Amino acid sequence: MTACGAGTENSADPGAGASSPAFEVAKDVALTGSPTFDKIKSSGTIRIGVKEDQPGLGFLDAATGVRSGFDVEIANWMAASLGVPANKIEFKPIPSANRESALANGDVDLYVGTYSITDKRKKLVDFAGPYFITGQGLLVQKSNDTIKSEKDLDGKKVCSATGSTPFQNIVDNFPKADPVSFDIYSKCVDQLKTGSVDAVTTDQAILLGYASQDPDNLKVVGEPFTVEKYGIGLPLGDTALRTFLNKTLTDGNATWTKIFDSTLGKSGTKVEQPKVDQY
Ligand code: GLU
Repeated sequence: MTACGAGTENSADPGAGASSPAFEVAKDVALTGSPTFDKIKSSGTIRIGVKEDQPGLGFLDAATGVRSGFDVEIANWMAASLGVPANKIEFKPIPSANRESALANGDVDLYVGTYSITDKRKKLVDFAGPYFITGQGLLVQKSNDTIKSEKDLDGKKVCSATGSTPFQNIVDNFPKADPVSFDIYSKCVDQLKTGSVDAVTTDQAILLGYASQDPDNLKVVGEPFTVEKYGIGLPLGDTALRTFLNKTLTDGNATWTKIFDSTLGKSGTKVEQPKVDQY
């Protein structure tokens, strides 16, 4: 891969997807006091936990082996800022419920996959970011005219991923709904298509990806009813790494915009990069 400027189109790396930005791989990165970075440096590779069934965010095309989406590009960008080229990234699919343990066990160095920053999770992992803000929404069959918002969930089978904030929200705050959970959201979408569940709930950004893949059969209804701030998960206590990645995000507004425009923003939506939270 040639060292193009950040955001240059048409990466030569087959893993990066046809129109995704290429990122300038940093040289001589000075990052002291980060056990995670020390590990990355000595192995020459970075292991990044991702989703691979969330179109537009974290998606693996099984036929071509190409990963695509906003989160995948954020992951590529973070790796490049740490001096790791795209061909030295090992992506690992980790479902929502296993993210904290994967980071704590050292199975992954970073996690970039629709991972909401919460106080509960902050006891187990650290987060850089936020790098994106969305909110919980609802996906239903196109023909459904009874579920128009979160107020219509009484007696309805509502599917979400185990260990996710939207699932917990249904359990805690929608006592008359009937929660159903699977490890990954695509299984909920399959259940929705066969009519085994009435709705899928998770972040609206994720649901819009499923709806756009099958607009004849699926639709997103209502307005977002929570605030989900996406962070880059990293091992608890690695403050040097968190500070470094926050700086990459803060200094890289132009790169963030390129990534957004080439993924979630393809339909023309304009969104500003959120401000990093230096907690
Ligand atoms: N952002 C929410 C969460 O972190 C839902 C999406 C997901 O499960 O990855 O729980």
